[in-house]
This record gives sequence, C-alpha cells and structure tokens, in this order.
Amino acid sequence: MSASTLIKKYSAKNDPLPTKSAGGKIKNDTGIGAAVVFNPVRDPKTGYCIEPDEDSPQRRQIEKHNRERWAHLQDYAGADAGLQNTRDPNGKYNCGDCNQVIPKIDDCWVIDLKKKLDPAKSSCRKWERTCKGDFEMNWHGSKNRISEAMSNFGTRSGGGPNEVFGCHNCPIGITSKLGKDDLGNDLYCQEADARVGDNDCCAINAAKTL
Ligand code: SF4
Repeated sequence: MSASTLIKKYSAKNDPLPTKSAGGKIKNDTGIGAAVVFNPVRDPKTGYCIEPDEDSPQRRQIEKHNRERWAHLQDYAGADAGLQNTRDPNGKYNCGDCNQVIPKIDDCWVIDLKKKLDPAKSSCRKWERTCKGDFEMNWHGSKNRISEAMSNFGTRSGGGPNEVFGCHNCPIGITSKLGKDDLGNDLYCQEADARVGDNDCCAINAAKTL
C-alpha cells in the first residue's frame, strides 16, 4: 500500500471531521510508523483548522506545542516560541527595519534578491530586528545565499502605511472566539491551530503582495 493511501485511510478513520467542537485528537498508535500524531479538526471546504469552543489547560498546552512547531517549520516568531530577534514588536516586518538590509542600495546581505527591495513594503521569513550587537556577515560573493523563493520574499501591494506584514494583516489569523490567552494572543491561526499575537508573523503570511 502506498504512503498516501495509508495516510488517507488513517485520516478517514481518525479525523473527527467535520466540526466536532472539543478540538483535535492525539493518537499514540497511528499504525503507520509515527509515534504520536495530533489531528486538528478541519473545515472540509477550506482545509483550515477549526478553533475548539472550549479553553482549558490541556488546550493551552496543545496551542503552545503548535506554536513551537510553527516556529520550527514556518519561522514563526511569537511571545513564547521562535527566535525573539525575529519578532517585530511593531508588527511590520519591513525590510527597512531589518538588521540584514543594505539601505543605500536596497539590497540584502543574506537573500539573493533578483531586484531591489522596497524598504517600506518588502519582507521575508528571515526578517531580524535591528540590533548593533548582532552583526551581520557579508554573504555577497557566495553561491549559497538564500534564494528569493526559499526566503518567501514578497512585497505588499498598495501604498499606505498599513500595508505591512504581521499576523494582524494575515487573513489566516482570525479573531479568537476564546478571547486573549494569558500571553495576550488574541488571533486564532487557522494553519498553526493556536492563538497568536497581532505582532507575530511567520513564513506563510498571506497578506496581499504584488
Ligand atoms: S496568522 Fe498568518 S502570519 Fe500569523 S502565524 Fe498564522 S499563517 Fe503565519
């Protein structure tokens, strides 16, 4: 049996689709090799996770683990997960405020850009907070700089001061029906299946780009 058939069979058996409200299920015997798998409840139409109706210490533990997963897989930066120098306290994540920008030529030390960046509207998953103690390396000249595609580089459409990145500008982050958690996270990320903060961000931010 192919891996995709196995996973489909596993999902059909264990996914509590379509809208069970208690949250996902954690199974410790998938029968396909992985030790423990968390199955979030998903909307069958969009594929997005559905936020549970009830909060609890166990749910918060799941959310925390999901944020940590997101930090590892999607360069998420939040209050309790991810590299803190990759979190923008202003929630803009613009290249102009990034430690790795080369301001006079609108270029970057680490991403192999094909065109000039826009200091007010461009960003990528490797954004870093400005810090004089965190010196950067001149990576120009290396063939192994990070490509635009790998960095999820993008430039926001529109010209206003609010056309920035951050979870507050991402349509995947919606107002949490559970309200704020004790970290101040008030948006429910339908991909990470966890509450996130307005000024957090990750690689798949879905704000409109050019
Ligand atoms: S709300 Fe958007 S930017 Fe924030 S963690 Fe989720 S997908 Fe990433």
